[in-house]
Amino acid sequence: MISRENPARFDEIVGSVAESSPNEVDAIVWAADAAYRQWSVTPIEERLALLTAGAEAIEDALAELSVLLARETGKVLGDCRGEIGFAVRYLRWVVAHAIEAYADEVLDDELGLLIKQHKPYGVVAAITPWNAPVILSMLKIAPALAAGNAVVVKPSPLAPLTLNRIVRLIGGPLRIVHGGAAAGAALVGHELVRKVAFTGGAAGGRAVAALAGDRLTPSVLELGGNDPAVFLDDAPFDDASMDRLVMATFATSGQVCMAAKRLYVPSFKIADFVDAYRAAAARVLVTGDPLADGVTMGPVISAAAQESATAMRRGDFHDLGIFDADEKTGYFVRPTLVVSPASNDLIVTDEQFAPVVPVLGYESELSVIEMSNSGELGLGASVWSADEDRAVAFARRFEAGFCFINTHNRTGMSLRAPFGGVKRSGWGREYASEGLAEYVQTCVIHAPAAYRPGAPPQAGGPAAYPV
Ligand code: NAD
Repeated sequence: MISRENPARFDEIVGSVAESSPNEVDAIVWAADAAYRQWSVTPIEERLALLTAGAEAIEDALAELSVLLARETGKVLGDCRGEIGFAVRYLRWVVAHAIEAYADEVLDDELGLLIKQHKPYGVVAAITPWNAPVILSMLKIAPALAAGNAVVVKPSPLAPLTLNRIVRLIGGPLRIVHGGAAAGAALVGHELVRKVAFTGGAAGGRAVAALAGDRLTPSVLELGGNDPAVFLDDAPFDDASMDRLVMATFATSGQVCMAAKRLYVPSFKIADFVDAYRAAAARVLVTGDPLADGVTMGPVISAAAQESATAMRRGDFHDLGIFDADEKTGYFVRPTLVVSPASNDLIVTDEQFAPVVPVLGYESELSVIEMSNSGELGLGASVWSADEDRAVAFARRFEAGFCFINTHNRTGMSLRAPFGGVKRSGWGREYASEGLAEYVQTCVIHAPAAYRPGAPPQAGGPAAYPV
């Protein structure tokens, strides 16, 4: 049994789910495969009707689900509402775009007629992290089901409860298994799993990719980020910009893949920046009970996360914002700005995934772009400047899957553009047409040259070079 405590009050058990043994994972994958056979030949309109009904059911339960998500993750209630609302929007976006994205393409020229089909894989294994369990699962579930796959999702044991409810609200050939690495490995290594979609950290990603590779199962990975936020020398430290930056750093207690995790400022402006950042935090950052009005940051996810975040608070550091929480009864960490740590300090080189952020000085644009692009992670980035042309030109030099100008936040996400990292932050894309394309494989029919659907057969056609 997996019992989940409330990170804000760890004596309180929010709920529990049965842990899936390897045998149970096996049985669930076999059941998903049986469901896939029926589902893959179900007309796409019927498949999409299931997603529409799922979106409605989730929306109807939004208030209750948001409270459950806040209690199991420690994320503030408004963010939980936003995450689940975004998942509903994404479901509807998939419904609106799937028919076009998954339609056959017909190529007809003097060499003959080709029918390019977009076919499902079979059973898709979706392995997801705890920090945004609903949207990150939905980014896999919705396109995979629309395309005709069955899905078995395995959420993190740190946040299994809300997704467990949502899976039941959607139904169809969607199944869930629970547990940690063992359940994940049983799922990824299963002979009937035909595609693996993973979001999480590098260690888990490496293990999942190795297992999938061993079976030659195609996989997509979305990994961590160590996003730089670069202030050019003309960037103002105005209140609105600073408020946005503080929340882009400390939303979900800094436990967001695309949080601003390293702040770079011209060395001669660093003292002014620290003052402006602290003033912004005093305005917008209130740490406390995630269900309470006015609170903008809750606890971190676990005792281990609290311990490692607390250890990062060293050197020249400043506490930020208003702290109205008890570190002894909840996994709270005081939000912290660390000024000018060594460039090889782990808080700079690694993803801290905690409410502790470094600010570093730089001397030239060349040096700051090199520092920004150092490391293996390349998820997001931002550049801040009074001159938007200059900012866009600078943004082109980031090695990151997506860059923001004068902001660095999740509300900048767009369904029109793909999300995903470069370097080792991931392969595969989510959102947009690229995200839909991950769940189909192309199968091409080479029809006779004179073939027309429904017409009687014609002889002949040019010979093609056999490859
Ligand atoms: P994690 O890698 O510990 O776990 C992710 C999932 O993988 C969980 O379901 C976990 O149980 C499973 N897992 C872990 N080891 C496994 C193994 N050996 N075999 C099979 N399954 C295994 O990550 P986490 O702590 O839950 O999430 C935080 C990480 O996720 C951070 O690095 C964060 O940046 C990243 N993340 C990335 C994105 C993105 O879209 N790029 C989004 C959110 C979070």
